[in-house]
Amino acid sequence: MSSKKNIPLPETFALPHVGVETHAHLDFPDFAEDLDQVLERAGNAGVAWIGNIFLSVEAYQAHQSRLSARQNIFFTLGIHPHEASTVNSGVLADMNGLFVGDANLRALGEIGLDLYWNRSPADVQIRAFRDQLALARERDLPVVLHCRQAEQETLAILQDMDFTDRPLLWHCFGGGPDLAEEILVRGWHISIPGPVTFPKNTALHEAVTRIPLSRMVLETDCPFLTPVPFRGKRNEPAYLCYTAEAVANLRGEPIRQVWESCANTAREFFSLPPA
Ligand SMILES: [Zn+2]
Repeated sequence: MSSKKNIPLPETFALPHVGVETHAHLDFPDFAEDLDQVLERAGNAGVAWIGNIFLSVEAYQAHQSRLSARQNIFFTLGIHPHEASTVNSGVLADMNGLFVGDANLRALGEIGLDLYWNRSPADVQIRAFRDQLALARERDLPVVLHCRQAEQETLAILQDMDFTDRPLLWHCFGGGPDLAEEILVRGWHISIPGPVTFPKNTALHEAVTRIPLSRMVLETDCPFLTPVPFRGKRNEPAYLCYTAEAVANLRGEPIRQVWESCANTAREFFSLPPA
């Protein structure tokens, strides 16, 4: 028997059609060829809403209308730390105008610090992060946070900008119980990605058992971070079920409960109507 036969396909989980995939990059060239099929598979796998994360004003302008034509895709927009040097007063004004004009833009992000790849100098990243946080405050927008190898710096800036108890989603959480606690105590939300399916991520596994589902959402970050059993292949929203399954197994809860509760949390965070 081929090993492929043993892989449960997403639709076999028979999850209710309420799921919220909170972080996808469907405007990336990886999905240029087969977006229709990708969305169909997501729907068949119980994904009712997909959050598309635009990383620049240009990406939004190029792809917004094409993706708006699809049902149940919502948007976020923020300048990623890799592109921090592009943030200036003109870009911030453009972003502000887009948020005013498009009610489907539900959050500002992903923004933050990435001291792992360090594609922009740290001081430039910090300035871009602070400028965009200021815009989020001004417009009263939820924030989707990107943080890689910069936890203490990020917490210090958010403290300084008075973000405690404001709506903030720590995207692609990869930390342990201590970092989860730091986030929860500040009133923020945590998004669990595909690497929770990797056997060696024991600190993350421990954290997942401690985060209340009322503060947890699920994401793929596709095309990246593909969960087991498709690790190494392109990721897509339909694979959210594998992340839900891993979370459910770690917590000893039914996958349906994780699926529905995380969806409720995401719908509330992004102010989405019921599926
Ligand atoms: Zn992302």
